[in-house]
Amino acid sequence: MEHESLYRLGVFVGVMLLMMAWEAIAPARTDPVGRPRRWRTNLLMLLSGSVLLRLLAPISLVAIAGWAQQHDIGALYLIDLSFSVKVLLAIVMFDMIIYWQHRLFHQIPWLWRLHQIHHADPHIDSTSGLRFHPLEILLSYGVKLVAVLLLGAPALAIMLFEIILNASAIFNHSNIRLPARIEWPLRQIIVTQQMHRIHHSQRPEETNSNYSFNLTVWDKLFGSYRKTATKTDQELDIGLVQYQKPEQNSGLGYLLSLPFRRQKP
Ligand SMILES: [Zn+2]
Repeated sequence: MEHESLYRLGVFVGVMLLMMAWEAIAPARTDPVGRPRRWRTNLLMLLSGSVLLRLLAPISLVAIAGWAQQHDIGALYLIDLSFSVKVLLAIVMFDMIIYWQHRLFHQIPWLWRLHQIHHADPHIDSTSGLRFHPLEILLSYGVKLVAVLLLGAPALAIMLFEIILNASAIFNHSNIRLPARIEWPLRQIIVTQQMHRIHHSQRPEETNSNYSFNLTVWDKLFGSYRKTATKTDQELDIGLVQYQKPEQNSGLGYLLSLPFRRQKP
């Protein structure tokens, strides 16, 4: 798809600047580590994931979806539906796939070794939404690649989904608090900050809930929805209990090597 990376970059920068401005004006919680160190780590984590992906998987999912589209590969090409319905259906299906991928990254121990880097962040703001171990990024690409080919997702759907996923990750990790009259109706449809912060709680039963990234329907449908935590949104303890020292939760080298270290119970 023409100008794909330009669109993606434009939306990324736009949403990031908007949420950062909002966080600066009305932050929901205070950062216990300090912005420079956390931001450096989280942004460098994003950069290392992007570089690894570019090196090992240089063909974008959108290009692969375009190729599959030309050759009618995938389930959606077997059904007689209008193009716009196929696009919508593929976006919703991908959202469900990402829900299950996220849930499995919590439940399978060797996948949790990678995903815990995201959860070790002792604070949660828009940059936390970019902080994933490069190997998790690579595995997620593999999952999405298989899904593109099996589902026959149109290239446009993949481009829109990647943009939506990126924007919503920045949005729902951001350090803001929506007023209850907006938050409550909104979270019936999409994941809000208050809902996702419960997923970043230090309490395992709270971490193992609210896996949805975009649509909340998946948590409700698959029984992982948690409406409230034991503590209020303001007092919720964020991060992982076993990684409380700044070098353990905000040091880039430590975090990149964490999956290969002996795990703390
Ligand atoms: Zn998670």
